[in-house]
Amino acid sequence: MVAENMSTVEKKICSACLRAGRKREEVRLVCVSKTKPVSLLREAYEAGGRLFGENRVQELMDKEPQLPGDIEWHMIGHLQRNKVKYLIGRASMIHSVDSEPLAETISRLAVQAGIVMPVLIEVNAAGEKTKFGIPPENAEPLIRELAVLPGIRVNGLMTIAPLTENPESNRRYFRLLRELSIDIKRKSIDNIEINELSMGMTGDYEVAIEEGATLIRVGTGIFGER
Ligand SMILES: *Cc1c(COP(=O)(O)O)cnc(C)c1O
Repeated sequence: MVAENMSTVEKKICSACLRAGRKREEVRLVCVSKTKPVSLLREAYEAGGRLFGENRVQELMDKEPQLPGDIEWHMIGHLQRNKVKYLIGRASMIHSVDSEPLAETISRLAVQAGIVMPVLIEVNAAGEKTKFGIPPENAEPLIRELAVLPGIRVNGLMTIAPLTENPESNRRYFRLLRELSIDIKRKSIDNIEINELSMGMTGDYEVAIEEGATLIRVGTGIFGER
């Protein structure tokens, strides 16, 4: 089942890339395995999945040692500062940075561990009250503040678009994120390398790819309903 789903998702990624005139290698699939048992993650691994996303620190910590070492783990969910320490050395990217204090904590612990943690800035593109992330207009000021932190590298932006039946209705938010990233890139801020756009989930990843996503986060489409 998981293998079949993975191949369906792969086909859809390829056709979206084709439509957008992009190379398949420009888009990485994050298999969002939250709430799913390790047995299903193994199926995804056997079907070629090498990048998994979890939204809770505890779950990532539980699963990581039970799966092969060549898997990359991304933290994609809201993160509390007191949990950051558990991600150092386990997660290879944090998608959900939305404040200076959180970034400062990540940086401090990464420096202690002798690493630099790649992070994305979570933007609340649609201004939904129920969602984390910063308003688009705060992205550049925040990124300027974070540029001085030695233990993180701001690699791009992330957004969670509204839940919708019609993926086309999220196109404008994906476009907004891409335009925002281009604006910030043009400013050439020292130590900032904005290359990643983490956007698109099961319902709308094809549209997100058309609008420039480099990381798509697909859960239900691979592992089934939660
Ligand atoms: C759960 C989750 C996803 C995946 O959602 P699906 O609709 O199941 O694909 C993507 N991103 C984040 C941040 C999530 O928490």
